[in-house]
Amino acid sequence: MSSSNANPGNLPKTYSVAVLPGDGIGRDVTAEAVKVLRAVEARLHGVRFDLTEYSVGAGEFLRSGDPMPEATFARIREHDVILLGAMGLPDVRWPGGQEMAPQLDIREKLELYCGYRPIYLYHPNDTPLCNRSQIDFAIIRENTEGLFSTRTQPYSLYDEQVADQLLVTRRGSERLFRSAFRIARTRRRKVTLVDKANVLPSMSYFRHIFHEVAKEFPDVEADHVYVDAVTLYLLQRPESFDVLVTENMFGDILSDLAAAIVGGMGMAPSGDIGDKYAVFQPSHGSAPDIAGKGIANPVATILSVAMMLEWLAHPETLRGGAMIYGAVRRVFADPAVRTRDLGGSVGTAEMGDRIAAAL
Ligand code: ATP
Repeated sequence: MSSSNANPGNLPKTYSVAVLPGDGIGRDVTAEAVKVLRAVEARLHGVRFDLTEYSVGAGEFLRSGDPMPEATFARIREHDVILLGAMGLPDVRWPGGQEMAPQLDIREKLELYCGYRPIYLYHPNDTPLCNRSQIDFAIIRENTEGLFSTRTQPYSLYDEQVADQLLVTRRGSERLFRSAFRIARTRRRKVTLVDKANVLPSMSYFRHIFHEVAKEFPDVEADHVYVDAVTLYLLQRPESFDVLVTENMFGDILSDLAAAIVGGMGMAPSGDIGDKYAVFQPSHGSAPDIAGKGIANPVATILSVAMMLEWLAHPETLRGGAMIYGAVRRVFADPAVRTRDLGGSVGTAEMGDRIAAAL
């Protein structure tokens, strides 16, 4: 998927990037992503990045009483693209008990409906699955409705019952599925809908719209699978999938499972993409257990920069994105070079240095 502002020619261009390191390891991994972006920039012709950092997240709430002040958001949305670390801290919660999640607010406010999460195995040593050397698929998660749609509704612990709603709209589903099919056209041309159409009316409707939209893409194979079955198949035969598309909550859960089979959350980048705006960030959270210790894996965030460069779609940024994928492949070819989450001893900054050096 590319930016609606895609620059088709080779014209010089400066892209303004809002950088939101956020909380916990968000700060650690964003520093390495910016390091690699600057190293890529130095190798590109006529493309520059103007970075502006903003304080958003649980830390900002502790400072100002608002995790994302309106004036900050107004400035953030003026940028060409947003690079985000991770947000939220377990001890900083709204009175109802939910964690601060401005990254979810941004998705909803900017209508970033397409949560694009590529899952790729860089080295056979990094998967817990036996005899797998090739894992390469993508999860497309609906980002603005589904079972998250009532997440901000107030409730009381004294209520007799509390219900969440799984919202499926025709507009939200059509735009999601069209994105999934377009992405499949850049890959192996197969889209699998993940649903629970055998039980939930909302999911049966979701499936109906999926097969309607599939007719617009006769060159792409379309099938469907139940969400419970897909957890089995992802472990038994991950190579049978190309693009998986699903509702918000299912996508949230499946993303972690999928990350686990390619080495964990530190290897899972993502792009939250709408028609005009996009945010690129690792799929993981702020991991406060390891924050500030210099041991977080920055690869997911570095790969998110590669996705950002692809989305900007200038010939030079496309070249920059390919440079990052190549550098990660080269660094990961040596199984001794791994961060702690992958059984190694390389620190966060050293991994950033190695990838920058391998560009
Ligand atoms: P969220 O709900 O915001 O996605 P979470 O509570 O599911 O967050 P994460 O913050 O993603 O959890 O962390 C889950 C586990 O994975 C933690 O034990 C954390 O240490 C580990 N982890 C997550 N990201 C990384 C990383 N980049 N490098 C190393 N370990 C990580």
